[in-house]
Amino acid sequence: MKEIKLTIFYKELNSENELPASFQQLLKSAKEAINDSYAPYSNFNVGAAALLENGIIVKGSNQENASSPAGICAEGVTLSAVSAFHPNIPIVALAVSAKAKNSELSNPVAPCGLCRQAILEYDYRFQRNIQLILQGSSGKIIWIDDAKKLLPLYFGKDDIKASGSTNF
Ligand SMILES: [Zn+2]
Repeated sequence: MKEIKLTIFYKELNSENELPASFQQLLKSAKEAINDSYAPYSNFNVGAAALLENGIIVKGSNQENASSPAGICAEGVTLSAVSAFHPNIPIVALAVSAKAKNSELSNPVAPCGLCRQAILEYDYRFQRNIQLILQGSSGKIIWIDDAKKLLPLYFGKDDIKASGSTNF
């Protein structure tokens, strides 16, 4: 038996000015997308924006439902919009921002576990790392050069193949 230590590195920025211009625009788009959020139950409005390989930015926001599980995260809406309107174009980076109705969010918001899994399916599908830019409504920014860093040992297509299933 051996013990494995996992370490990740990411960048923490004090200002969006430290980002490349294309990522500054991407983060701005994620913040704009917050305005389209429908979150009457949590009052936690999230916006996301994906930068595609062809330079197009696709925005999405969280869409809640009276039946909570039917709600969709901003990242999920964005990924679905990419697939619906720009199929087969790889995602280069995804920015996420949020604001709460009654308080300033000074800490970055990160994708939930389900969304991390969904993001990595796009990584696998196009064999391309997806960068993440995360910020609250203000404050420091987290820049991760590979979304896989947020979900070590994630379950992927290769795991299904290893099971011997013939359905995939
Ligand atoms: Zn999520």
